[in-house]
Amino acid sequence: MLALGHDLLLVQSLPNIRYLTGFTGSSGLLAIRAHDAILVTDFRYAAQAPREAATVARVEIDQLNIWDRLKRVLGERPVGSPAFEAHVTTVRDRERLDALIPHATWQPTSDLVEKLRLVKDVAEVEAIRAAASLGQDALAETLPAIRAGASEFEVAALLESALRRRGSEWHPFPTIVASGPRSALPHARTSERAVNPGDWLLLDFGAQVDGYCADLTRTVVVGARADARQHEIYGVVLQAQRRAIEQVRAGMTGREADALARDVIAKAGFGEAFGHSLGHGLGLEVHEAPRLSPTADLPVPVGAVVTVEPGIYLHGWGGVRLEDDVHLAASGPELLSDNRVELLELV
Ligand code: ZN
Ligand code: ZN
Repeated sequence: MLALGHDLLLVQSLPNIRYLTGFTGSSGLLAIRAHDAILVTDFRYAAQAPREAATVARVEIDQLNIWDRLKRVLGERPVGSPAFEAHVTTVRDRERLDALIPHATWQPTSDLVEKLRLVKDVAEVEAIRAAASLGQDALAETLPAIRAGASEFEVAALLESALRRRGSEWHPFPTIVASGPRSALPHARTSERAVNPGDWLLLDFGAQVDGYCADLTRTVVVGARADARQHEIYGVVLQAQRRAIEQVRAGMTGREADALARDVIAKAGFGEAFGHSLGHGLGLEVHEAPRLSPTADLPVPVGAVVTVEPGIYLHGWGGVRLEDDVHLAASGPELLSDNRVELLELV
């Protein structure tokens, strides 16, 4: 394993450790050198860590202190330019680094492993597709059970139960179920509010397979037919999402991708009501690079998986967001979720 241009790279980010070694535990230090890698973790993972990581790293288990163990394993040999993950390492850990290798001048690095993680291989794409499929099935089971009068918590419980029964490893983020005017809060916290007839109900939820996350949002009307205003707003979001899914390409900047949807919403007069970015990368983390946003100047690489999630949020009235997951293949965008976004009225 290459130390990515350094004599030694200390990896502390758990998703990065998982990506590089397969280790799924909650505590570990991975030291990568030119010709070997050492993974130190604690007694809770004595059986699991070698099973998951021994083919790529020498696994060391310590009962007391993983930092002390790593120091002993590295020994007294000088290391020219060791590097650490500046976006992960805490101030306290930075002090530990000085004790780890004598006389070393530590170099801060940022996103070295994250850059590798940007481009998904076939197995990663298939895991995200499987997570999306599981999420869609869970939603299909949940929607017919939703009635006006149910609380957001009750709806979230149904959905989360369906996700877990279908094999989602965990909820990658707290499930958002937001009804009525609360659907105008883009990152609403699910509450005890009961859904009224004619309310919007926005469901934003994730599923996880083999560590990889899918992220989906659907917005439906509960207990009544949609009114004219609901049809109008929904139609604009739908059109914005469709345009972005059809036209997004690897090689565009995040800003250009974002504009595919933002232009549609702005043209319809709701530009101010779409206050977040169009999408984010998906992988071992539910929010990772690349970003599809008005401030993202970097081109989106071939092989990235991103969400496409435009929304319109009108304070006091409600909001609509539609979110699907897209693989940016060399041949063009490939939907990993079903994009079944025709307006549903649960009556
Ligand atoms: Zn989401
Ligand atoms: Zn998202």
